[in-house]
Amino acid sequence: HDLYGTARANSKGINLDDRPQLDALTQALAQQQSKIWDLACLVSGARTGGDPMAVKSPTDHTETVGTIRPALVTDREAALKAALKAQQSWNRLGGKARADILRKMGAALENKMEVLIGLMVREAGKTLSDGIAEVREAVDFCRYYAMQADAQFADPTPLPGPTGERNELMLEGRGVFLSISPWNFPLAIFTGQLAAALAAGNAVIAKPAEQTSLIAAYATELFHQAGVPGDVLHLLVGTGPEVAAPLVEDERIAGVVFTGSTETAKIINRSLAARDGAIVPLIAETGGQNAMIVDTTALTEQVTDAVMDSAFGSAGQRCSALRILCIQDDVADDVIHMVKGALAQRTVGHPGDPVTDIGPIIDEQARAGLEKHIARMDKEARFIARANLPSDLQNGTYFAPCIYEINSISQLDREIFGPVLHILRYKAEALDSLMDQLAATGYGLTCGIHSRLEGRWNSLFEKSMAGNVYVNRNMVGAVVGVQPFGGRGLSGTGFKAGGPHYLLRFSIERVRTVNT
Ligand code: NAD
Repeated sequence: HDLYGTARANSKGINLDDRPQLDALTQALAQQQSKIWDLACLVSGARTGGDPMAVKSPTDHTETVGTIRPALVTDREAALKAALKAQQSWNRLGGKARADILRKMGAALENKMEVLIGLMVREAGKTLSDGIAEVREAVDFCRYYAMQADAQFADPTPLPGPTGERNELMLEGRGVFLSISPWNFPLAIFTGQLAAALAAGNAVIAKPAEQTSLIAAYATELFHQAGVPGDVLHLLVGTGPEVAAPLVEDERIAGVVFTGSTETAKIINRSLAARDGAIVPLIAETGGQNAMIVDTTALTEQVTDAVMDSAFGSAGQRCSALRILCIQDDVADDVIHMVKGALAQRTVGHPGDPVTDIGPIIDEQARAGLEKHIARMDKEARFIARANLPSDLQNGTYFAPCIYEINSISQLDREIFGPVLHILRYKAEALDSLMDQLAATGYGLTCGIHSRLEGRWNSLFEKSMAGNVYVNRNMVGAVVGVQPFGGRGLSGTGFKAGGPHYLLRFSIERVRTVNT
């Protein structure tokens, strides 16, 4: 059983530096540009839902990407009833057969890579490179969890016992899982949650983020085509409070896998605790207050590249993104100078344009939140730089990335989810106290360290609460099976997505003892 996948290869994707590949992609995207998608909820494999609602693009609010039909109360009940009925046969199908279906899903995603990228550019404002990375990650999740299903859910594990007694340990699905996913990785996280819950033998009701329901609906149809029965996987589209919350409260739901904000995770946790019936798990992956520590031995160019990728890649809309760049004061001016110069080189633009580095913010509400934050920063912090926003972008929800210098971590009381970098200078003797303050935020998602001193990496690793620590590189883009991803505290419950222990959270262990 290959639990860690040492012989596994990650999916390849498209190389944008290779001209023919780039041309083929941009041509495929141009052909789809005017397509109007018409998708819906999927209950027992059938398209259903209320009146169609227009889906607008964050790149341009005058552009309609398509229509989606939100779930009705009757859809919710029908999905739950069918899922409850179908779950046992899906569980009994066994890990091997489920793994085969997930591998087919991986192949289907690869086959539809250009369609998926096109949809992500238009519905989620993903840049081409982010879109490619996201399809690859979704493919990897399917293959990785298929491997785990083979390794852990195919056959019972024999256990020792006295002569005449046969003991076996087996893993099974828990029942019907509710999957609640965010818009910022509308394909990868959505697919990863579903693939994990399905691999472990659960039926699933998926409630994707309302901002990215078309991508989720398209991916769900691919799951069905790959062989997941319609009764085993249902898609309910709509808002969290309207569609997901009643299911969280429903005691027939055997577990919830959630990725999104810490605030929503807490609402779900409270709701699960308050309901009658079984005690069920919440697997939550949430926000971060992520820092990078730079000391005087760090390589300034390397730091600059890492900061640009980590703070401004995906327009800062990554849970792993760098929010607080902590620089030892002796080198702070040099690093700030370089980072400022690098920001001026970045292109904010339409995400489908290959030269764009930074695309739009997901919606007007998110952009307004960022504007409000920087209005406060303008009063309370030192302004360092802001990128240019080309004038032809006014129809989209674009936001010019910016940098501020703060005096204290306490100036940031919550996660700022966008391309705003905060810089904090520290004195060498205050590094321990800085690490204590970072830990005291309660978040523990990612941390970056830039130093040539191995002893420094080790001591900062020990002091950091972060679930994923990156030394002398960027701190985003965790790769399935290579950097299993997830945090602790306010950042999540663990175990790590894309890691060898993730599926266990979706399952129950049973032991059969037979006196032969
Ligand atoms: P969000 O919490 O607003 O929404 C996430 C999902 O929860 C959506 O599907 C939404 O409809 C649903 N929801 C909202 N209210 C609900 C309720 N009362 N009951 C049930 N469901 C409800 O988060 P978001 O804005 O979509 O995503 C951004 C957040 O996600 C950021 O905080 C980011 O850090 C976090 N995130 C974390 C990870 C990770 O792996 N740790 C990955 C990606 C994103």
